[in-house]
This record gives sequence, structure tokens and C-alpha cells, in this order.
Amino acid sequence: MNRSSKVAAFVLLGAAVASSALAQTVKVTPLGGIDGEFCPQDRALVFEDPNGTRILYDPGRTVAGAGDPRLGKIDVILVTHMHGDHAGNAHNKAPNSGTCADPDMSVSAVPNTNAANIAIAKKSKIVTGSEMPPFFAAKLKANGGNPADSMLARFGGSVIVGGVRIATVTAMHSNGLDPDYIGGELGKAMKDAGIAGDVGLPTGYVLTFSNGLVTYLSGDTGITSDQELVVRNHYHAKLAVMNIGDGFTTGPAEAAYVINELVRPAEVIASHANEVGTVGGKVRPGSKTEAFMKASKVAVHVPLSGKTMDFDAGGKCVGGC
Ligand SMILES: [Zn+2]
Repeated sequence: MNRSSKVAAFVLLGAAVASSALAQTVKVTPLGGIDGEFCPQDRALVFEDPNGTRILYDPGRTVAGAGDPRLGKIDVILVTHMHGDHAGNAHNKAPNSGTCADPDMSVSAVPNTNAANIAIAKKSKIVTGSEMPPFFAAKLKANGGNPADSMLARFGGSVIVGGVRIATVTAMHSNGLDPDYIGGELGKAMKDAGIAGDVGLPTGYVLTFSNGLVTYLSGDTGITSDQELVVRNHYHAKLAVMNIGDGFTTGPAEAAYVINELVRPAEVIASHANEVGTVGGKVRPGSKTEAFMKASKVAVHVPLSGKTMDFDAGGKCVGGC
């Protein structure tokens, strides 16, 4: 091989490596209440990095405990805040129990949380921000898990687990710990007084996957200036998962403003609609989900339970949408 053909071979090799990196996608699979639908309690998503690392986001009440056959291997669990529909104070008996409008939540997960129970069974890390790590460490320790599996990523910091960089970002919400997780005399006294435990501020997340995809997970939040200053200007998120349910979080109009003017990702997955978002897999006319889709300037993907979507490094859906 002469010098110029060596250079040509090197360039071709470089192009092949670059194109295979680009071809690597992050798989996003919603674990909702009813297969093929978007239902009121749906929050849980599994992100699978091209390197195989699997991350469960806000298991909530639609993941049927650690035995849910849809989970498979789970390396990391993310919990934005301690409210029961995110950490999981209760959950379904099995996928597809109940109906979309009236989901089954008959299995209690207090005082542990669905998240802690799954982490113990799967030997997953739990990465949270604020002051939630000691809470999860105590739950892991009390139930035979490894307290060191509860890891901290506080605002502005990040940790890398399984090749994915995990950072927490501001969420404007609340994060009181239900006294049911505390129990005993103290839990009862707090419950009687109507006060919650303090585990610090709620959070959102920014994940940077090994193919370069940067994803913003809003958690429950209102509109914050950090959505522009931090999520867009610093992290350059290309995909967003945005809560749209109103009342507790941004509604469709506020969520669309966050997406259109502040975060400005390439594409967005709607989440946390607190409604029957779809019927027969089609967006229900008059729904908040429909209102958000109409108001968003970028493509909106509806998280149909069990339906895997593939996203490239630029945040574009290239399969399953
Ligand atoms: Zn909440």
C-alpha cells in the first residue's frame, strides 16, 4: 500500500466508525398501564443506550413491581421526586390490569417505594439529586440491598453509570415525603399534623448517552429559566420528555412554550398527561395530549406502552414512531 492509499484507507475507516456511531440509537420503551395506549398514570420509560445500559425513569405505579416481565435488566433507576406517582407508592398487579381510564394500583409499595423494591431485586443503582440519596440508601439497607447503590448527582454535578452521564437539573415543584414511608409513631404524628418529610428539592434530569444523544427529562415542573439557561444553553438537549398534565405541572400550553422557546429540542415525547391520552392507540380528540401536539413546533411522540422508539444522536426518531 502506498502512502496515498494508506491515507484513503484511514479516511474510509474513520468514516465507517463515524457512521456506525451515528447509526447507534437510543431505544425508548414506555412501560405504561395498558399495551399500545397512553394512560393517566403513565410515567415510566426505559432508555437503552447503544452499549446496552438500561435506565428506568420514574417507575411510578405502572411498573408491576420487580417481577414485571417487561423490565429485563435494569442498571439505573431515576426518581425525579418522591410523589407516589413517580417513586411508586403502589402499583398494578401485572401489566394490562384494570383499564386505561381506571388503572389497577392495588399493590402497596409503602414503606419502600416501587423504585427501591425494583432496585433491590435488579441490583440497580438509584441516581437522584437533592437530598433523596440518603432516603434510598436507608431503604436499600433495610431491605437487604447495598446502600452504596444509592448515588448522588446534585444540581450542576453529574455521575457516569454504564457509559451514560446523568445530571440533575431544576424542577419547580414540591417534594414532600409522605409519612407512610416513615411509619411508626413519628410517621403517625406527622400524618396527623398534615406535614411531610423533607428530602430536599425535586429535580429533572439530563442524560448524555454514549452515541452523543442529550435528553432532558422534565419531571414534574413549572416553567423555569433554567430550561433555557441550563438545559438548552449548557447541555444542548436534542430530545425532551415533557410533562403536560396541568394542575400539578405545566399544562399543554405551558409545556409547548418550554419546548418551543426555552429547550428547543429536535423532538419531544409527551409524558404525565393524567388523562386517557389515546384510544386504540390514536390520540383522543379534545385531549391535553392533542392540545400539546397542536401547540408544539417540533414533532411530538406519544409514549404508547410497550412500543419502542429509536432516537439518533440528533434527537430524531428513526424507528418505531
Ligand atoms: Zn409530583
